[in-house]
Amino acid sequence: MSFLSLTNIKKSFGPVQVVHDFDMGIEKGEFVSFLGPSGCGKTTILRMIAGFETPSGGSIIIDGKDQGTLKPNQRNIGMVFQAYALFPNMNVHDNVAFGLKVAGASKTDIDTRVKEMLGLIKLEHLADRFPYQLSGGQQQRVALARALAVKPQVLLLDEPLSALDAKIRISLREEIRQIQQQLGITTVFVTHDQEEALSISDRIVVMNAGRADQIGTPFDIYNTPATRFVASFVGTLNIIEAKVIDPAAGSVAIGGQPVSLKEPIASLKGGDSISLALRPEAGSIADGSRGDTALPGEVVSTSFLGSVIRTRLRVGSDVISFDMFNNPGIVPPVAGDNVTLRFAAKDLLVIQE
Ligand code: ATP
Repeated sequence: MSFLSLTNIKKSFGPVQVVHDFDMGIEKGEFVSFLGPSGCGKTTILRMIAGFETPSGGSIIIDGKDQGTLKPNQRNIGMVFQAYALFPNMNVHDNVAFGLKVAGASKTDIDTRVKEMLGLIKLEHLADRFPYQLSGGQQQRVALARALAVKPQVLLLDEPLSALDAKIRISLREEIRQIQQQLGITTVFVTHDQEEALSISDRIVVMNAGRADQIGTPFDIYNTPATRFVASFVGTLNIIEAKVIDPAAGSVAIGGQPVSLKEPIASLKGGDSISLALRPEAGSIADGSRGDTALPGEVVSTSFLGSVIRTRLRVGSDVISFDMFNNPGIVPPVAGDNVTLRFAAKDLLVIQE
C-alpha cells in the first residue's frame, strides 16, 4: 500500500457531485501536483485529505492509518494556503512556534526547532518581525516553516504561490521543491498553472470536472497527453482536423495533403475524421531538414514572445501555430508569406476524447 492512499473518493455538495471515484496512491517523499482549471475539484480533494471536508465515499489512508474518523487537528498534516494566513498579532518566531506550543513542547525544544525552521527558509534575521513587515514571498516562507515545524507526515500546499508576482513565484517554487526534497516530505500541491506543475512535480494529476484525466510524470503528461483536455490544458497545442485515407497504413490528409502517421489507426476507416495534435515547438519553416512531413501554408500572423516567435499559419482549413526560436539573425515571416511547414510525423499525436 502507498504511503498516502486515496481510494474511490467521492464528494457531493447537495445534489452536485464534484469529485468522482478518485483513486491514487502517493509514495513517501513524492511531490504530486493536482492541476486543472477553476472548479475541477482539486481543492476539494486537498481539503478532504486535511479533514476540512468529509468525503461522500471512499477512504483516505496515511501510513496505514485510516483518517476517516480523525478531525483536522488529529491528523498529522501541515498546510499552506493561498492567502498567507499568518497570525497578524504574532511575530515570525511565534507564528512558527504556534503548532509546537499547542502540542505542549518545552520552550527549549520550541526555540531549537523554530531556529532550525527559520534557517531552512533563510529568514533567521527576521524572527522578530510581524507579518505586516514582511513581503508576500517572505510571508509564504514563514507559512511554510510554520506548517513544517510540527514534522507533519504530509504537506498540503493550496495554490501557495498564486498571490505572488511572477519573479518571486518562480524563485519560491524552486525553494519549496528544494526544501521538500531536503526533508523528503510527501507533498500534495494544488495549482492551475501548468508551468508550475511541470517544473516541480514528481507526478501530476490533471483534473477535469471532478475526474482525473491523467496521472503521470511531467514528461508523460506533456509528451503523451491521454485526452484532448490534457493536451490542450498542458501547453499550447494545435488541434488539427484530418481525414483518414488508409487506416492500416496510418495515412491521413491534412488540408488536402497526405501525411503518414507513425502507426496504423485501427479503430477508424477511410473517410473518417480524426483529430491530431501538434505542439508549436515541433514545427519549423526555416530548417529544411526538420522532419519528414511538409505542408504548404500561408502566414496569418506572428507574435514576439521573447524566447520564441509564434507564427500562425493557414494550412487548408486549419490554422497551425508553430514557434521559431529567437536569435539575433532571425528574419521572421510576415502575414501573407507562402511558406512550407515541416515537422516529423511522429510528433503528431492522435487525440482520443
Ligand atoms: P479553484 O482553483 O477555483 O479553487 P478547484 O478546482 O480547487 O477550483 P474546488 O474548490 O474543489 O475547485 O470546487 C469544485 C466544485 O465544488 C466547484 O464547482 C465549487 O463551486 C464546488 N464547491 C466547493 N466547495 C463547496 C461548498 N462548500 N459548497 C458547495 N459547493 C462547493
